[in-house]
Amino acid sequence: MNDIRRRKQCDVAIIGAGPAGIGAALALKKAGVNDIIILDRETTGGGVPRHCGHPPFGLREYARIMTGPQYAQRNIREVHKAGIPLSLKTSVTALGPDGTIDYVCPQGRGKLSPKRVLLATGTRETPRSARFISGDRALGIYTTGALQSMVYLKQMVPFYRPLVIGTEIVSFSALWTCKKAGIQPVAMIDERSRPAVAWPVFYASHYFGVPLLTGCSNITIYGKARIEGVRIVDQHGQQRDFSCDGVLVTGCFTPESILARLGGLTIEKKSGRPLTDRYGRCSNPIYFAAGNLVHQPVKVAGKCWQNGKTVAKWIAKDLL
Ligand SMILES: Cc1cc2nc3c(=O)[nH]c(=O)nc-3n(C[C@H](O)[C@H](O)[C@H](O)COP(=O)(O)OP(=O)(O)OC[C@H]3O[C@@H](n4cnc5c(N)ncnc54)[C@H](O)[C@@H]3O)c2cc1C
Repeated sequence: MNDIRRRKQCDVAIIGAGPAGIGAALALKKAGVNDIIILDRETTGGGVPRHCGHPPFGLREYARIMTGPQYAQRNIREVHKAGIPLSLKTSVTALGPDGTIDYVCPQGRGKLSPKRVLLATGTRETPRSARFISGDRALGIYTTGALQSMVYLKQMVPFYRPLVIGTEIVSFSALWTCKKAGIQPVAMIDERSRPAVAWPVFYASHYFGVPLLTGCSNITIYGKARIEGVRIVDQHGQQRDFSCDGVLVTGCFTPESILARLGGLTIEKKSGRPLTDRYGRCSNPIYFAAGNLVHQPVKVAGKCWQNGKTVAKWIAKDLL
């Protein structure tokens, strides 16, 4: 139940109910810090794994291999079992220098003054608008996260023959999602001269029946209302056209650090994540950060969960 507006203070507020935030909450509780609250802007907790409808998740935490949704549900069950309040549909909009956080929830706006705040807001893929991809602004361009939310949470299929841009591990997660949803990508391309994932992972594209082309440049999307095709220059300098009805822009993760920025925390110039010391503490010592918000390159869920736990132990010590 969302009763956050009745609370004005607490020991620790955790922003983000993904693996890092939940790992931290459980560890804080275990360390004897009882006055905790987790806030998340989504309608259900669990973070990104909620819509990764494939394994492997949960091995490190629960010694079981689960799909993302099973893992997210298990994490939420553990939160409820531990009696930790979880305030959903609650977006944190500002961080004050004294630790006061502003939020918006369906009941309206509010402020909370915790003694410590853990930022566990994760990371996101760079959308088309922030990439140097030229051409028409037609409909049908999605990131992996957006595609997975549509397929797994809303049971919708936005296209049937997309072109996949990127060859990071998440790009192969996108291929997996496409296969499950009956989507057949026309190709997977990358501007790099080699795939971003190591051998033999990139051979997975053969398994999915998707040709992989590296060294592509001058990517141009065309289409009037919807996407009709993508033109590229391949590694031999030849122009090629792909007829497709969508584009999947995958990977290129950037930390979800807007709150940290607005809150005046020091941000690392190169990575864009909040600067932390070895205890996970930010430049303002009331704030800590954990999970993929501070990991560059991004880490798997188990590692974020573990990192949340480690930072939580330092927060508990700090409070004492
Ligand atoms: C497509 C894809 C496939 C993946 N596949 C795997 C896999 O197979 N196995 C694996 O182990 N890992 C996988 N991962 C990685 C894994 O999902 C991440 O490592 C993990 O979710 C990171 O956890 P986190 O808690 O740091 O952040 P997240 O899971 O991103 O959680 C952050 C939470 O913060 C909330 N939030 C952000 N800003 C605010 C705000 N202002 N107010 C309130 N709430 C806010 C968000 O709603 C979100 O719930 C995959 C990732 C992606 C994108």
